[in-house]
Amino acid sequence: MGNPNLQEKEMEKSIIIIGAGIAGLSAGCYARMNGYQSHIFEHHTRPGGVAATWKRKDYIIDGGIHWLMGNKPKERDP
Ligand SMILES: Cc1cc2nc3c(=O)[nH]c(=O)nc-3n(C[C@H](O)[C@H](O)[C@H](O)COP(=O)(O)OP(=O)(O)OC[C@H]3O[C@@H](n4cnc5c(N)ncnc54)[C@H](O)[C@@H]3O)c2cc1C
Repeated sequence: MGNPNLQEKEMEKSIIIIGAGIAGLSAGCYARMNGYQSHIFEHHTRPGGVAATWKRKDYIIDGGIHWLMGNKPKERDP
């Protein structure tokens, strides 16, 4: 679905992203924030990639991230 506030010329730009892991989902968000149409194709039944959570019987299995690295850009460049 397109952003109705964008000019027609901007709406022509589009990006196809393969994979709905964190990288693909982030790329999709940033593409939209910068005026691109973005289409994410995921071959699994749910998004998240290796950072997905799923339920089995009475358990919720948290398969991925517990501590997000690289989220403080100032700390990267001392
Ligand atoms: C157990 C575990 C714990 C972790 N803990 C942390 C942590 O604490 N902190 C941290 O920062 N990081 C952690 N990580 C690492 C972090 O989870 C990953 O680096 C990050 O989620 C990778 O995201 P990604 O989008 O690059 O790749 P993936 O998550 O691998 O996503 C790729 C996606 O592409 C899809 N795909 C692949 N091929 C195709 C295709 N041909 N067509 C369509 N779709 C396709 C896959 O199904 C998948 O959904 C952990 C990882 C694991 C496994």
